[in-house]
Amino acid sequence: MALTKDLVRRALTGVDGPDGIDLVTSGAVEWIAVCEADASVKLSVEPTPGREQFASLATACAAAVTREAKRDGVSNVSLLVQFVDEDGSLLYETRTPSAGSPPVREQPPEAAANAKASSLPGVDHVIAVGAGKGGVGKSTVAVNLAVGLARRRLGTGLLDGDIYGPSLPTMLGLGAMEQIAHEGKLQPFLVHGVKAVTIGKLVDPEKPLIWRGPMAHGAFQQLTTRTNWGELDRLVIDLPPGTGDIPLTMAQSLQLSGAVIVCTPQRVAQDDAVRATRMFQQLGVEILGVVENMSYFVGDDGKTYDLFGRGGAEIMAQRLGLPFLGAIPINTALRKNGDAGEPLRNFDPETAGGEQLPKALEQVVGNLESQLALARLRTGSAKPKLTIS
Ligand code: ADP
Repeated sequence: MALTKDLVRRALTGVDGPDGIDLVTSGAVEWIAVCEADASVKLSVEPTPGREQFASLATACAAAVTREAKRDGVSNVSLLVQFVDEDGSLLYETRTPSAGSPPVREQPPEAAANAKASSLPGVDHVIAVGAGKGGVGKSTVAVNLAVGLARRRLGTGLLDGDIYGPSLPTMLGLGAMEQIAHEGKLQPFLVHGVKAVTIGKLVDPEKPLIWRGPMAHGAFQQLTTRTNWGELDRLVIDLPPGTGDIPLTMAQSLQLSGAVIVCTPQRVAQDDAVRATRMFQQLGVEILGVVENMSYFVGDDGKTYDLFGRGGAEIMAQRLGLPFLGAIPINTALRKNGDAGEPLRNFDPETAGGEQLPKALEQVVGNLESQLALARLRTGSAKPKLTIS
């Protein structure tokens, strides 16, 4: 037997928050994810309690879920409870081990964040953004994920490893900024709240470069290991598209916490995305989720047009048993802000052509964080079949 989201939700109706109202009714439950006997819940409670109350609330949640699960014949339940503030920043988290182990233990976020410690010192999680082919919006998603994570007060780095067409100089508005090296290390650009490094600032953008495998690999290694990243919670890597030698070697050369696959809804794009998924899986890299880009278009008439067959990538994700992180519409502001190097504008309804784009991006960022939390929860156990949605 496996846990279900309904079961967890049902259990949480029996736990009262600091306002005396049960967590479900008060709207404190922001996210529930389940995977066999593992579950992860994200709560935003009011008024914000102290550490002790966080701990006792988490204990109550764990007890309620375990009780409810037992009733449905599910044992060895493991629960990750995260408390976040209204911006989604992590305030406190605890994890219950499987039954038979001691009850809820407190873990500071930094200690819990080592599910698959990155091989880069000071960097907690490395997340690769890949795609089966170019032009699907991989770099756009990578940039907006990084900026969205930074907006949640996570120390975030962004590495443009797309040697075929580095887009970060444009998308981040690096313009005339010079790449600086200090004591043999590259200093990342500090832009839009993100520490960024791009191969586009190391090669002449006008001069076509023919990359051979070892050369590309060497350049990528330099970018990752010889950059002064400092302390980072997340490092987002924009990989070259496809499943050829170069993206494969790059994906292999770093210890990744997981990968995000960007796909447009069309059938032909899905086929390529499946290949990209298989590539990561063969390398033992967990797929944190699929993003459907250019999902639909909302016209000036307010009507939604499914130009490419909205939902195609979501169905592909379901078919492969992968989490779906969300859909990003075709949006003129997204393209314009990308060309202007102003990604923060995508998160403000005034400069994003309305509420729709900021909402879609926040959803993708939030879901990615939740999948990462779930991946951490699963670490150490044999890889179970994913049943999360
Ligand atoms: P890739 O990295 O997959 O090659 P890019 O992220 O560079 O793709 O995107 C290609 C072009 O499409 C860029 O001009 C970008 O601004 C635009 N674009 C990407 N996603 C969207 C979208 N959802 N709506 C509008 N334009 C988009």
